[in-house]
Amino acid sequence: MVRTRFAPSPTGVLHIGSVRTALFCWLYARRHNGKFILRIEDTDLERSTQENVDAILDGMNWLGLDADEDPIFQTDRFDRYHEIANQLFESGKAYRCYSTKEELEALREEQKKKGEKTRYDGRYRDVPPKENNDNYVLRFKNPLDGSVIVEDAVKGKVEFKNDELDDLIILRSDGTPTYNFTVVVDDIDMNISHVIRGDDHLNNTPRQINIYEALGAKPPTFAHIPMTLGEDGSKLSKRHGAMDIREYREKGYLPAALLNYMARLGWSHGDQEVFSVDEMISLFDIRDINKASSTFSSDKLLWLNHQHINKLNYDEIIPLLKYHMTVLEIDYESGPDLKEIINVYSERSETVLDMAKSSIYCFQDIDDYDDKAVKKHLRPVILDPLNDVKSEFEKINNWKKENIDSAIEKIVNRYEINMGKLGQPLRVAVTGSSMSPSINKTLTLIGKNRSIERINKAIEIIKKRIESNKE
Ligand code: GLU
Repeated sequence: MVRTRFAPSPTGVLHIGSVRTALFCWLYARRHNGKFILRIEDTDLERSTQENVDAILDGMNWLGLDADEDPIFQTDRFDRYHEIANQLFESGKAYRCYSTKEELEALREEQKKKGEKTRYDGRYRDVPPKENNDNYVLRFKNPLDGSVIVEDAVKGKVEFKNDELDDLIILRSDGTPTYNFTVVVDDIDMNISHVIRGDDHLNNTPRQINIYEALGAKPPTFAHIPMTLGEDGSKLSKRHGAMDIREYREKGYLPAALLNYMARLGWSHGDQEVFSVDEMISLFDIRDINKASSTFSSDKLLWLNHQHINKLNYDEIIPLLKYHMTVLEIDYESGPDLKEIINVYSERSETVLDMAKSSIYCFQDIDDYDDKAVKKHLRPVILDPLNDVKSEFEKINNWKKENIDSAIEKIVNRYEINMGKLGQPLRVAVTGSSMSPSINKTLTLIGKNRSIERINKAIEIIKKRIESNKE
């Protein structure tokens, strides 16, 4: 039975890098009809916050990375860690170390002076526990010789010599357990079969394997996935787009597009770029994870978002469009059917937020004309053609593209001007800017009455201009 887990520490929010790890764990579990478990590693009591826990749960939920069991919180398991730590102590596999801070500092200085790697030297390894002294940490007795071979599913065979590893603290002097220890206790208790995580943890793995062995447990399969870097080759940071994953929701990204993009950061299937979630589930394999690090590109993410927008059906996209319109305070019931907006705008929108923003003029009055466009296109020469086309529009009973086209054509012929000469002024008149879909589509979306009202307003603007030219 495949059981994977994602184990974020709530010392920060979820960002692209961490969600990609979650996604790989989730995909692997789904692919093999296994279970995916969420474990909140909140033992760092000072830096963990409820706000970050909420951000993690909300982000996972938004992306659809559902866990199969209730989330586990490490802070609920302190008794269990103490129980196992005690077991190691009782069986001689862990010991109390009474070294003071000053003592350890002196040791470090001495090692530095000799040009040696700084590490704990095991000085209390064979010292019997002191009766009346509670001032100790509990250290794991790491084997002194031999080596640990990590058979990593991504990295291959990696060997670590035991004499490179010092005796790890498993319980601090205040009794709090440490990461390398809790993770092993949890992964054993939760029957985790595959530990998929960032390769920044590869160096921890031999220590963890030694603890598995001391506990008589079989280590899981490890898969350490290479980092994702920013476009400049440095560690991925907020500057590169590694913000709270939920900010992508506000920016109009689709979960499906983000998941697709994150999967492609380090995983490939031939040269296919666009994958649905179901496709990824059926194709995902740890063996296809790249050994080299990947590079985050916001342009590529945007491109994929556009691809996914175009694949959505009305039922999927309408709730998203409504969400963004509500945020923008657009009354989406006061304009054309949203299906019409989607028909016209899917092709030209990279995000759903773009779609909502660029169709604002279909729902509310223009309060913000583009000055440059007004200056360039709403000029005195176009006053008469604009007046005439308005009269033609007024006669139209069935407000559809073909009828709008023939009205415009009639006026263009009357004045012997080309299409654009009237099209652009009309566009500025009804949208406030010189950019919109084709003019007949734009007018159809806006509707007859609103279009005529706005042409009237443009006529007033031109008249004012003529007046002020005279002065
Ligand atoms: N809490 C660790 C982290 O956020 C988890 C590491 C692991 O998956 O073992 O990096």
